[in-house]
Amino acid sequence: MSVEKLINDALRPRCTSLRGQTALITGASSGIGLALAARLAQEGCHLHLIARRQDRLSQLSIELKNLFPELNIRTFPLDVTREETADVLESAGAFEADILINNAGLAKGLAKIIESDASDWSEMLSTNVNAAFTISARAARAMSARKSGDIVVLSSVAAHHSYENGAVYCASKHAVRAFHEALRLETLESGIRVIMISPGMVETEFSLVRFSGDNQRANAVYQGVESLDAGDVAESILFALRQPRHINLDDIIIKPRQQGNPWRVFRNS
Ligand code: NAP
Repeated sequence: MSVEKLINDALRPRCTSLRGQTALITGASSGIGLALAARLAQEGCHLHLIARRQDRLSQLSIELKNLFPELNIRTFPLDVTREETADVLESAGAFEADILINNAGLAKGLAKIIESDASDWSEMLSTNVNAAFTISARAARAMSARKSGDIVVLSSVAAHHSYENGAVYCASKHAVRAFHEALRLETLESGIRVIMISPGMVETEFSLVRFSGDNQRANAVYQGVESLDAGDVAESILFALRQPRHINLDDIIIKPRQQGNPWRVFRNS
């Protein structure tokens, strides 16, 4: 092959446009989900936004409609752990979306297994595992029928490494990873992409939720570290989604430079 052709191939623009697609985002009321809503809107995507806090969703929807009046933005104030939620979304046609951002999730507590609270376990498992599996499965069914679609799931570095005092959160994210690896295999013929993103420390409401509203403990997590922000993660997801359809970014591990793994962090004094 000629050098000229090789150069031309290398320089060919690759990113595709998402304009006109519809994205269904769970956990859109804060953090990574909210940042993605804003970035996908900027890319020209219509949005279905899901979270429990209706006031936050309404405010987000108003702000985005002001910025991008041509977009269709629907809000669903729903708890993903409720049994009826997937049916409500299905009846509303929300699973007809081209893109699912399966993001709603949380950590509760930071304690040894023998000292941790069973209600924290069940909240993490019902949100990060049961609800996330159900939503991906429903979206995958609709996408398989249409032979197209992208499922993006918020995994974590905790899906790759288990850390002390975070057993159940780590177990939940390991489960998310295993489930979506299998889903990718099962949908190879369907034209669906299953993309995981595994962030390290992202400064969102995540730690505030983990420590039940204790601001001091939450702030200490990010002290002395230039953490990721939600927009950093959103940008990586956009990169994966904008790849040509023959490319699947299976799992993007993204961490602050100062974070070696979940428990080894270099902090500025
Ligand atoms: P966040 O700011 O706390 O956002 C979590 C979102 O999930 C909120 O919009 C919350 O909305 C929603 N949510 C939680 N439970 C829900 C439920 N039962 N029903 C509906 N929505 C629910 O945290 P984040 O950092 O953006 O986290 C997003 C995802 O990234 C999670 O899956 C998390 O595990 C993952 N992640 C985060 C980090 C990090 O360091 N921040 C690192 C790795 C992975 P409502 O409260 O309004 O319902």
